[in-house]
Amino acid sequence: MIPLPDFANKRVAVMGLGLAGLSTARALTRSGADVLAWDDNPVGRKQAQDAGITIADLSVLEWTADLPLILTPGIPHKLPVAHPVAAAARAAHADIWCDVELLARSIRAATYVSITGTNGKSTTTALIGHVLASAGWKVQVGGNLGPPVLDLKALEADGVYVLELSSYQLERIFSLRSSVAILLNVTDDHLDRHGGLGGYVDAKRRLFELTTPDAILIIGIDEPLAEELATDAEDAGRTVIRISGEVPVDGGVGIRHGLLRDDTGESKDDAIDLGGATALRGSHNHQNAAAAWAACRILGVDPAAITDGLVSFPGLPHRQELVAHAIRHGKAVAFINDSKATNAASAGRALSSYDNIFWIAGGRGKDDGYDALAPGLDNLKAAFLIGEDASTIAAYLNRTVPALPVTCAETLDMAIEMAAVAALAPEAPAESVILLSPACASFDQFKNFGARGDVFRAMSQATLAVAEGA
Ligand code: ADP
Repeated sequence: MIPLPDFANKRVAVMGLGLAGLSTARALTRSGADVLAWDDNPVGRKQAQDAGITIADLSVLEWTADLPLILTPGIPHKLPVAHPVAAAARAAHADIWCDVELLARSIRAATYVSITGTNGKSTTTALIGHVLASAGWKVQVGGNLGPPVLDLKALEADGVYVLELSSYQLERIFSLRSSVAILLNVTDDHLDRHGGLGGYVDAKRRLFELTTPDAILIIGIDEPLAEELATDAEDAGRTVIRISGEVPVDGGVGIRHGLLRDDTGESKDDAIDLGGATALRGSHNHQNAAAAWAACRILGVDPAAITDGLVSFPGLPHRQELVAHAIRHGKAVAFINDSKATNAASAGRALSSYDNIFWIAGGRGKDDGYDALAPGLDNLKAAFLIGEDASTIAAYLNRTVPALPVTCAETLDMAIEMAAVAALAPEAPAESVILLSPACASFDQFKNFGARGDVFRAMSQATLAVAEGA
């Protein structure tokens, strides 16, 4: 746990007592702060109380400028509508922070690597953590990707924090000074909270301000918006390394057809073959690998150790995770859980990574539509649609790929069953993939994307067990 001595005997308000809020309230309480914690949900309050945290109704508090509010990232302080507690704190000019601000204020000697982007944050964060740990470095990994940062170990000057930061968190961090800042990509997501694309890009751009003066900015240029940000940063005198998962990059790091080329140094290294990195399939994962390569090279990790780390990376659950595999009647079928693909851009990336896909998609649709699926549609054999947006996706597929068999399966278990029957049918290809990559949020049918992926994993394994027994 991170010690927060600056807050001993100081009053601090904590709003939102989920995983990160509870961790913040605990760390502050243990550091001797006078914590006032609140959650609108009585369950959260009860949990905090059981953990010895003082509960106080923040909605009736007399706010003053010297009372910081640690506001959980999920609760808005401006848009679409500010939570009344956040509005009252802002009116009193109180600071509104998230837990990362407390970490940055407390631990100043360690090196920070921070990662943001619309997609690929968790994978890249975990990947850099894995490479550094495998190379024997002292490293702690957290942020938006659990564990909450105040539950991490305190590091000294020889340690590295690798932090995944969401746009919501970035709005509430001020003291962080990262030596390496990575912006993977920027596509439209979460626009309601940021008042449109401009606000969202500004939130992501904040990552570059939260750096040391000589920090290196690693920017993915596979999206036009991110390329604009790279040029702006260079014009402002910052050092930028451009990365791509699709093309070689002059002066940067690019991966094409699985071959990584680092063009950043004096001595041009030979291309590295990433064919052995089985958890990093597809050009999107190559973008993540290029970012990890660049970051680890900047930190001074030996290229051979980075290559070993990329190849031995086990991947994360719910991101193109192989959960079951079967060979029956000469048909090989892999079940892939990509439940984390909650928007069309990320699902499109997964669709581009495999051949012969029996695709399961749907849920609660996002505002940005389904056009971003287009690059992967040629790989589909059939689609099985579930959830609220099933008919909208069906209409999109009927329009775009009229010959594709599309079935509205309603629920995930029905979709898995139907997809398995289709993939094992005599006319099916010899090798295929049953891919859950929903392009939608899960909240219409599941608690969250993790619960959706867990059901997919369990049902896939059960479906195969039945098929084996049959
Ligand atoms: P995040 O933490 O930003 O949500 P994840 O690493 O959890 O990102 O991946 C989320 C989804 O996006 C996964 O389904 C994955 O297939 C896809 N994805 C991963 N990396 C990228 C990338 N660089 N660009 C686009 N999509 C990606």
